[in-house]
Amino acid sequence: VFASIVQAPEDPILGVTVAYNKDQSPLKVNLGVGAYRTEEGKPLVLNVVRRAEQSLVNDRSRVKEYLPITGLADFNRSSAKLIFGANSPAIQEKRVATVQCLSGTGSLRVGSEFLAKHYHQRTIYIPLPTWGNHPKVFGMAGLSVSTYRYYDPATRGLDFQGLLEDLGAAPSGAIVLLHACAHNPTGVDPTLDQWEKIRQLMRSKGLLPFFDSAYQGFASGSLDADAESVRMFVADGGECLAAQSYAKNMGLYGERVGALSIVCKTADVASRVESQLKLVIRPMYSNPPIHGASIVATILNDRELYNEWTIELKAMADRIITMRYQLFDALTARGTPGDWSHIIKQIGMFTFTGLNKEQVAFMIREYHIYMTSDGRISMAGLSSRTVPHLADAIHAAVTG
Ligand code: PMP
Repeated sequence: VFASIVQAPEDPILGVTVAYNKDQSPLKVNLGVGAYRTEEGKPLVLNVVRRAEQSLVNDRSRVKEYLPITGLADFNRSSAKLIFGANSPAIQEKRVATVQCLSGTGSLRVGSEFLAKHYHQRTIYIPLPTWGNHPKVFGMAGLSVSTYRYYDPATRGLDFQGLLEDLGAAPSGAIVLLHACAHNPTGVDPTLDQWEKIRQLMRSKGLLPFFDSAYQGFASGSLDADAESVRMFVADGGECLAAQSYAKNMGLYGERVGALSIVCKTADVASRVESQLKLVIRPMYSNPPIHGASIVATILNDRELYNEWTIELKAMADRIITMRYQLFDALTARGTPGDWSHIIKQIGMFTFTGLNKEQVAFMIREYHIYMTSDGRISMAGLSSRTVPHLADAIHAAVTG
């Protein structure tokens, strides 16, 4: 009965790793997936995560019972505080419904399933470009996907005018997906001034903000600074949604830990919203896994572990920034034609190099350097050892 099924294409981002794994060259470098690597090119388990896990293992009172549909209460409370701020009036007024979900992706999916079922306007505007999974997640949930201008290839910066025009022309009430910080794939974020203008426009048109926060702490190294955009929207008393991921900032990729928060106008509404979120979650996966959320809750609720986390997080962010400078310097030293200052201006895990499809294919073929076809490279996958090789490849791709 399945004989006529056609082969599906590889996922464009995860497919880069599949191709990388097949490559036998000792020179190969994977800059496709946004996963942090050490200077030695190894995946990193944070020390603070090891400590939290150890304390969980040692605590014999911990069992493996099912969590509630909404997940671990301690985790939800601390996740809301992390993104909205410890003293957020919205939290104090109990206007926030937070549910534990399967990392950032699962949080986006639960949020969009909820909106498709209960919100009057089913169109979501996503930035152009955006993370490749966004349109698929929202489309699968039953939302209809439109785009707003975001990146200007000419300046390799924000197309702020285009953004305001497109959101200004969106139908009243439309949902707008915003990257809280460290926009993926461009590394281009609005300034706080620009965020304020976006906020005013969106509120004046009744557009509903849906924040995707996958890199809190990774953009600037400061958890508070990277949540500033979200907090501006919550401070005005209006509604918003926020999807949080602990994949990058705690290095918990495979543990699939995340949270969806819906900020409402009143505590009563938030409680009804939560009851409906349970109806979305129950038939999807019943309830979320316990281990990763317990690690996060342990760290967020212990002052010493929390401080240690912020130090380790800052070290990861700083190493990425160092890679930006090393790559920029290496291209400058080679006299590679073009302006490469965007490498040090862009923010977060990725650099949107500006290399085209053909140049990317050339670098994979000739230099065994793997990246997505849009020319996005993960700075977190680079090291002092691989920067010269990458700079040689870019130089050859540009001059060849
Ligand atoms: N949103 C963005 C913008 C991302 O870059 C990612 C990860 N690449 C995610 C969401 C989701 O990641 P995860 O499901 O692993 O938390």
